[in-house]
Amino acid sequence: MSITFLLGTRAFIDAEYSLSTTLYIASVVFATSQQLQVRFSTARARTWSITLLISCLMVLTLLLIITGGKDNTGPLWMYLVPPVTMFFAGFVGGLLALIAFTITCAIFLFGFNDAAFVADYTYAFKTRLLYSFLTVSFLSAFYEYSRQKSYDTALYLSEQFERQAKHDHLTNLLNRRGAQQCLDREYARMLRSKRPFSVAIADVDRFKSINDTLGHEQGDEVLRQIAKIFSSRLRGQDILARWGGEEFMFIFADTNEAGAVKALESIKEVLNKAPLDINSKQIHVTSSFGVSEVSADMDTSSAIRRADQALYFAKDTGRNRVCASSSISPSPLSSSTLLKEE
Ligand code: GH3
Ligand code: MG
Ligand code: MG
Repeated sequence: MSITFLLGTRAFIDAEYSLSTTLYIASVVFATSQQLQVRFSTARARTWSITLLISCLMVLTLLLIITGGKDNTGPLWMYLVPPVTMFFAGFVGGLLALIAFTITCAIFLFGFNDAAFVADYTYAFKTRLLYSFLTVSFLSAFYEYSRQKSYDTALYLSEQFERQAKHDHLTNLLNRRGAQQCLDREYARMLRSKRPFSVAIADVDRFKSINDTLGHEQGDEVLRQIAKIFSSRLRGQDILARWGGEEFMFIFADTNEAGAVKALESIKEVLNKAPLDINSKQIHVTSSFGVSEVSADMDTSSAIRRADQALYFAKDTGRNRVCASSSISPSPLSSSTLLKEE
């Protein structure tokens, strides 16, 4: 934008009015392209902006080549086209645009070489101009291709790292950090929708003795199989995470405590009825569950604390049980309502 404006002014001072008008128009188009990107940050505006920029640059360069510009120096600006086109249009779009541009230039340089409106270049100059232009285009395309490849690799790696940071390698479930993010997201959704969700913690019963009798490796296999059984019984919107050692967390979206208890009772039954197959041995495993509803009057950490207390209660009262936190302690809402009523 600035360079075309300066050159336009220079041409104006030299009384080359048609060149100066062309350069001023190009400067305005470049400014419009830039403003499109700055003011509207949509993908559509970006496409328009890039199309405008590249078309203007190509038309301007073509005009400079055809007319020769100042003392036949116009073709020098040709070398700006490949890097700018590749940078803005990417590898595929840039390559197509450059092929079209090269063909158009070749047609004007060699097809209309006797026409009065085409500047007078020698044959050697025109061929060397095209060869060097093709070399710069190839290098720009190669550079853009490598840049895109490294960008894709970096993106893939960062997605992998992010996935690993949020997942547990043993069960492939979300880990505690991943679960915490889901809890925060679910909490925000609950505040908007005003519909509660529920959180539950499951702790495998007597897992230490499973480890002691089968060994730690088989204990790992037990955890993997339990994770599969738990997740196979969940709806698409519910979340299962490995909360710690042999503890799992359930997040039941859009579900009150009674609904979550019902779902967990059926999961517990499945676990009770289907023994695990560990190294061709049938192993009966049970789990205890503590559930708490999460509503707007409590934060997620108090809900987790309440679910934990309910879990301890389930353990204390015989294990292989689902225990709701409201059945052992009143919810904050009911206690505050009671206070108000008093
Ligand atoms: P309770 O019914 O009271 O929950 O009894 P428990 O034996 O399950 O309770 P405790 O929490 O004392 O024992 C949990 C055991 O889980 C202890 C630990 O060695 C084992 N554990 C924790 N993480 C893993 C793991 O990733 N793999 C295996 N194999 N064992 C684990
Ligand atoms: Mg435990
Ligand atoms: Mg346990």
